[in-house]
Formats: sequence, structure tokens, C-alpha cells
Amino acid sequence: MTAAIDDVVRRRVGRPWCLFLDRDGVINTRIWGGYVRTWDEFRFEPGALEALRVLAHWSPRIVVVTNQQGIGKRLMTREDLERVHLRMVRAIEDAGGRIDDIRYCPHLEAEGCECRKPAPGMATGYLGENPDLDGSLSVMVGDTASDVEMGRRLAVRNGGGATVRIHTDHDPAADHTSSSLAAFATEVQRALDDHSAE
Ligand SMILES: [Mg+2]
Ligand SMILES: [Zn+2]
Repeated sequence: MTAAIDDVVRRRVGRPWCLFLDRDGVINTRIWGGYVRTWDEFRFEPGALEALRVLAHWSPRIVVVTNQQGIGKRLMTREDLERVHLRMVRAIEDAGGRIDDIRYCPHLEAEGCECRKPAPGMATGYLGENPDLDGSLSVMVGDTASDVEMGRRLAVRNGGGATVRIHTDHDPAADHTSSSLAAFATEVQRALDDHSAE
């Protein structure tokens, strides 16, 4: 297992690739049965800010891909969401991290759009606009089975890619499972340290 994640980490060093990150349950604490509508309701997951600093060293591009059906349900507006994201990015930058772009799906599940995960539209859209990136090196990190499915569909399209499930139980559908973004970043850092020590 360790060898596999080390390989995922090391083979991307110095290459043009993109790390796609789910938001709720990965960067910030998920509100079960609800939506983060204001900055007051936004809570970083423990260690997430430090994790994002580590991941910024590893990945040349970090893009958040997030389903925000609360907009389609009219529980919040695009402006509400974008205000939260502005604050989130600022806090991440203040902590030495970086978010290069944020893609969100505002649609209702029933609309059957191409951007709502597990559809890979948010990631394929970003990669289409950034042809300098090697899509087959993409890594998708998320806390739900739907995120892993999205990463798998993306990998099928691109002829390669890796998925990471943020979960307490091992997910055999994902290439790697970590208990938190902080735990994942620690594994990335260790692989990078071992790599540079070789
Ligand atoms: Mg999530
Ligand atoms: Zn959508």
C-alpha cells in the first residue's frame, strides 16, 4: 500500500498535472443534510490548511471540484458561494497554500447535468481549457464513493489517473485511502522526503 502511494506521489514530481480536490468533507467539515452558505458556517477540517501547504509543493495545479446543489434548491445563491470561496482561498493562501481554480456544479441532481459528480465534467472542462496539463496524471481526492467514481471516469477518459478516498474505512474502489486530508498530506510529504533522500 505504502509503495503504491509512493509511486503515485513520485511519478508526478516535476510533471504538468492537476490535483482535483473535493471540498466538503475534505477541506472543510461537511454539514450533514445542509449547505455551507456563509463564512461563519465554514470550518476547516483539522490540519487541512497545513495539508494544503504540503500539497501545493507537490502539485503544480490544485483545483477544487464541488457539487453545490443548494444553489439549485435556492437555499443559497452563486454570490453566497463565491463569497465563501473568496474567504476560503484567502485563508489557504495566508497559510502558505494555494487553490488555482474552483469549479462548482450548482445544478439539481434531477437536471442530469454533465458537471455534477460522479460525472467528470468539472475536471474535463478544466483540463480542456488547460491543454498544457497531462490529464492522465490527474489525481482526484474526495470523501464519498461518488468522488472516487468521478475520478475513475476521468481516468478512463484520460487513459490514466489516480483516486484517493478520504475515509476512515479502506475503500477498495479507490487507489488509496487516507483518513483525512492531513493524513494524506503526511503520506505525500514522506514520499517526497524519501524521494529527495535517494
Ligand atoms: Mg465531499
Ligand atoms: Zn451541474
